[in-house]
Amino acid sequence: MSDLLADIPSVDKVINDQDCTPLLEEFGRQPVVLAIRSVLNEVRAERKKSLAAKTQSTILSMDVIITRVQNTLELQSTFSLRPVFNLTGTILHTNLGRAALPEQAIARMTEIASGASNLEFDLVANKRGDRDTHVEDLITRLTGAEAATIVNNNAAAVLLTLNTLAFNREVPVSRGELVEIGGSFRIPEIMSRSGCQLVEVGATNRTHLSDYEQAINDNTAILLKVHTSNYEIRGFTHSVSEAGLSLLAAKTKLPLVTDLGSGTLINLEQFGLPHEPTAAEAIASGADIVTFSGDKLLGGPQAGIIIGKKTLIDQIKSNPLKRALRVDKITISALFEVLGLYLDPDRLQETLPTIRHLARSFEDVNQLVVDMLPAFQSALGSQTQVTAIDTLSQVGSGSLPLDQLPSKAIAISSTKEKGADSHLQKIAGILRQLPMPILGRLNDGQLIFDLRTLDAADALSEQLEEVNLS
Ligand SMILES: *Cc1c(COP(=O)(O)O)cnc(C)c1O
Repeated sequence: MSDLLADIPSVDKVINDQDCTPLLEEFGRQPVVLAIRSVLNEVRAERKKSLAAKTQSTILSMDVIITRVQNTLELQSTFSLRPVFNLTGTILHTNLGRAALPEQAIARMTEIASGASNLEFDLVANKRGDRDTHVEDLITRLTGAEAATIVNNNAAAVLLTLNTLAFNREVPVSRGELVEIGGSFRIPEIMSRSGCQLVEVGATNRTHLSDYEQAINDNTAILLKVHTSNYEIRGFTHSVSEAGLSLLAAKTKLPLVTDLGSGTLINLEQFGLPHEPTAAEAIASGADIVTFSGDKLLGGPQAGIIIGKKTLIDQIKSNPLKRALRVDKITISALFEVLGLYLDPDRLQETLPTIRHLARSFEDVNQLVVDMLPAFQSALGSQTQVTAIDTLSQVGSGSLPLDQLPSKAIAISSTKEKGADSHLQKIAGILRQLPMPILGRLNDGQLIFDLRTLDAADALSEQLEEVNLS
């Protein structure tokens, strides 16, 4: 017994082996020592186990140990977050990181991340500055608002706004607008966490101005309108428009706050999509504060943008919670560059990935499908049928809920008589394990890859060449 265990080399012996030298160079001494220790511990445990079970142990060579050390080190240094091909047909997929950033934003983030910057330093006045000023002018120009401030995401924007303007007070909200936005963001819950009291008005399908009027009392702080961007109520419905609410807000001297959710800056009808209220429209129709996301239809970094009346924005900015929810210099850099592209809206289809994907014509996607079909067929064609199909892409991230955009996809169906579904699941699993995973969606017995959001066709072909179905 002691022989088998005594056979295990010391850490020093492994580290001084000449085959260990390249590992020391690549990873550094301390990580290598720790990896050797952990491999030798594993080996010791394995040997004890096989001794107890009286099974044969494999011969232990220095080669085997060093290979295991190398594997351990490589595993430790791989990053679990990595690029994937989003071919799900959902342009802004929250689980897949939402908007892809344009190259100008990436360049600016790199520049500002690389060293010191005047993030909160006024170079003219030589005194402490405000990080919001780097993007505030651009936002107010694009939206017509008086002032703006930025936080981590739109959930934070809603939380901070309510906490500032309605703490310990009442907020009437239409029952038709008490939405849940994927994950755990629900309007009633965010309201109670922000310390304000929700007063439900109207009915799920119909809310009238008089419902709000009856709910208002001395303890009412604001009127809140939530843009229900991720679902639709059809049929016998009525809601109070922003303009209608803003008249009531003016009459009662209460601020009107609108949570726009997606908050686009341009009219999406030009891409054949239904109208989504823009941030400028919300301001023009009388909202005193409007909040929206940076990484939904705007196509920028994760951020929450709060715009509106300067007096209210000043109050929001001086809330101590703002400090907890503020964005960093990298987000501000990306946001500046993305917003800058909106100054030239006619070219957004070329300059901004989210708009490029939204606006991509059916013919363009179809051409991509024609080009990519052979690569899919040669990678996945055995025991499956690989065809081109018509499909509908969706915007995603709670913006424009319904499938809207006519698109073209590559569809894989199993030719197996039995277990076709698990066959497709298995193929999907293999594609998810590629160095750059390829993600589609399973639908109606088909594995579907919508190419609307494909940018790197060559890289996709390369990945498909690596597929091994056996
Ligand atoms: C998406 C959404 C939010 C949350 O925005 P995040 O940027 O994801 O935090 C809040 N309100 C509405 C109406 C939304 O659509």
